[in-house]
Amino acid sequence: MPRSTTITRTRTPRDTNAYTDTDTTAFDDGANEATGSTPRGSRRAAASAPVRGNRSARVAEPVKPTRSRAGWGEFDKKKEETSSGGFPDDFKLTPQAVIVKILDDEPFVTYVQHWIDNVKKGTRKSYNCITEFDECPLCARGDKPRARSCFNVVDVEADNLEVKVLTAGPQLGTILKNFATDKKTSPLNRADLYWRVSAVQKSNNNMDYTFLPVKARDLEADYDGLVPLTDEELDQFESECFTEEDVVRYDSRQDLKDLAEEYLDS
Ligand SMILES: [Zn+2]
Repeated sequence: MPRSTTITRTRTPRDTNAYTDTDTTAFDDGANEATGSTPRGSRRAAASAPVRGNRSARVAEPVKPTRSRAGWGEFDKKKEETSSGGFPDDFKLTPQAVIVKILDDEPFVTYVQHWIDNVKKGTRKSYNCITEFDECPLCARGDKPRARSCFNVVDVEADNLEVKVLTAGPQLGTILKNFATDKKTSPLNRADLYWRVSAVQKSNNNMDYTFLPVKARDLEADYDGLVPLTDEELDQFESECFTEEDVVRYDSRQDLKDLAEEYLDS
């Protein structure tokens, strides 16, 4: 697909302590540590930042890690993150609300995913269900997969504006569908619509999602001078949107079969 020529798509370090989607994924409350001290609001129309759209000044700012990156856990995390072969960056909802632009009017893909506990390793990994085109060994063993729906979004308050993928489980997907079918808030990617989004984990391991529509014209006044995206920026981001093949990868049926035999009771 065409890639950016004018907008930096620098990949930012993943904040993997935060969760991606999901209605049930365990959530670490310290999730924002890595990014929490980053100055926000670079799109804000501050008197000291008269040149709009010039992001080079921000890019030149040295990045200072705010936490220790020592240890094998860090090694495992970074190794995992960098070996995925060009997956798009996930947009992670956190308790700290941010303003995003949703670039799709509906999910660009909905797929189905299993989560398998590897008791020996103490890990939990996702595997995409192959039921749509083959017999799925994980389903055959009785594991229940869950739907995941993907949307392209831009965090308008981020230092580096880039398209990321928001993945919604059934709970968040239902919230978005309700907005998408309400005249007042549809389509989700309407030019004058932004979204204030956050999520907090509830005690029962479910998530509390907050998605509030915000009018573009209210951004500057209500959100500390935050400037809406320009038409050029929107065009650019729309041309960079991810598609199904960027986000959904499948393991072979044999691999899934081995996995099912090893980790799922028959
Ligand atoms: Zn399956």
